[in-house]
Amino acid sequence: WKNALPTLRAIVEASRAHGDTLCTIYRDERVSYEAGFRATAALARHLRECGIEKGDRVALAMRNLPEWPVAFFAITALGAICVPINAWWTAEELAFGLGDSGSKAIICDAERWVRVSEIRDNLPDLETCIVSRAEAPLEGARRLEDILGTSDAWANLPDQSLPPADIAPDDDATIFYTSGTTGNPKGALGSHRSICTNVLSSKYNLAFAPLRRGEMPPEPEPKTVLLVIPLFHVTACSAAMVGYFVSGHTMVFMHHWDAEEAMRIIERERVNLTGGVPTIAWQLLDHPARGDYDLSSLELITYGGAPAAPELVRRIHDEFGAAPGSGWGMTETMATVTGHVAEDYLNRPDSCGPPVAVADLKIMSLDGTRELPVGEVGELYAFGPMVAKGYWNRPDATAESFVDGWMRTGDLARLDEEGFCYIVDRAKDMVIRGGENIYSSEVENVLYEHPAVSDAAVIGLPHRQLGEEPAAVVHLASGESASEAELQEWVAARLAHFKVPVRIAFTDDTLPRNANGKILKKDLRGLFETAD
Ligand code: ATP
Ligand code: MG
Repeated sequence: WKNALPTLRAIVEASRAHGDTLCTIYRDERVSYEAGFRATAALARHLRECGIEKGDRVALAMRNLPEWPVAFFAITALGAICVPINAWWTAEELAFGLGDSGSKAIICDAERWVRVSEIRDNLPDLETCIVSRAEAPLEGARRLEDILGTSDAWANLPDQSLPPADIAPDDDATIFYTSGTTGNPKGALGSHRSICTNVLSSKYNLAFAPLRRGEMPPEPEPKTVLLVIPLFHVTACSAAMVGYFVSGHTMVFMHHWDAEEAMRIIERERVNLTGGVPTIAWQLLDHPARGDYDLSSLELITYGGAPAAPELVRRIHDEFGAAPGSGWGMTETMATVTGHVAEDYLNRPDSCGPPVAVADLKIMSLDGTRELPVGEVGELYAFGPMVAKGYWNRPDATAESFVDGWMRTGDLARLDEEGFCYIVDRAKDMVIRGGENIYSSEVENVLYEHPAVSDAAVIGLPHRQLGEEPAAVVHLASGESASEAELQEWVAARLAHFKVPVRIAFTDDTLPRNANGKILKKDLRGLFETAD
């Protein structure tokens, strides 16, 4: 039993059995599992020749391209540690990620190379650079196509095995950086065990069946998935992509998110599953051209990563005839910790589901001394084999957040009698007004219900006597109008007086979000200060 858990290397080796089934579709590039494996083996051999050994860090910085999974599995099949880098990062942020992880090699696309080449001189550890989709030969880097050829020719690469490597489930596999929503990103160190147990969770989700503890998941049928969230986020990589490799699903990638292009692809490729973050589902639902496309192949739309308004669930069910699904997780838990789909979710639209079979949850008092009873709001702690080993290079932050195998999540939540989890707010976003707790998400949901409001965020403004007072930033839907007083009355009619935002600022732009669809409240606080 000790050795029964697969490693990422075993998963990619087994994926070869899916043969001619398409693994990825990107524009007119269609790569089968067999072709993808051949490219993975060839790239792994090349990396080994470049001196990459077990434990070395290799950064991966590109859009969702067919070579992303190839590079990911080539790196991890050697026992090296893959460091997926946020493709939106500036040269300065890239320098942080590459320097912090001590990456010895990078595999990136030509767009990222422009930034990497600027900072390369300051990165003494970085010996090897491999760049995909560069039009001309590069100075200081090899082109991926010179190693593998273009994706249409991967099927003709030699039939060879992966180079030897001795990997145990608890060996390091990945460093994913947190989204940086509340501060600077931190690198979460994941093992093969943490990712492979997550695969079990995503298989359960894809089986479309709400699974209870102790039940075995049915084998899911091969599906076509439109994977639009960036693979450098742990959810897309670990819960989604690696799981799809196990089940032999086909992933369709997009150059960048665009709702109408997504609908065109759903129609053309008969996509069964999509989602990622709630924003994606909203944009599909609200798109004026939705009626022009045949979206009847959609069976499941799942998301997580940010709060989803309860209204979304019913609309997905009614208007797409698809099952809605939601889950909760964080980079430090290597994605999925809770999840539910279909009836379970429709019946509890404000819940993110019960813990997946490999996880456990508890709610602790904010000072961390007491476990709270069912129904009470406190800090959510998550336990299980998917929890990362700690933060890379950050022993202080690791000691603070990783306690006896439990992850202190920094999220406020409650559990119900049946174990379903309800996320209430981030502890950092809760506004404490004269000792009264105000959950920003509760006030935001009321604002969202106002017909003129398209986007809203509630933050705390410092107050000398009260400590903090709630304020809101609101973006109105196009063509709508509403005054500060009108919105304050709207909230006052629905929530206790002390929860009414004392100031409401209107912005012409949509609210700033990071790549994972999360509102960057730290940036909004600055906006309020300058508005004063
Ligand atoms: P940083 O830790 O760097 O500030 P981050 O916490 O946004 O960034 P991630 O690990 O990508 O980085 O996100 C995890 C967080 O996302 C969770 O702690 C939680 O606050 C939020 N989240 C995830 N899923 C949900 C959900 N279903 N509902 C509400 N919030 C969610
Ligand atoms: Mg976080």
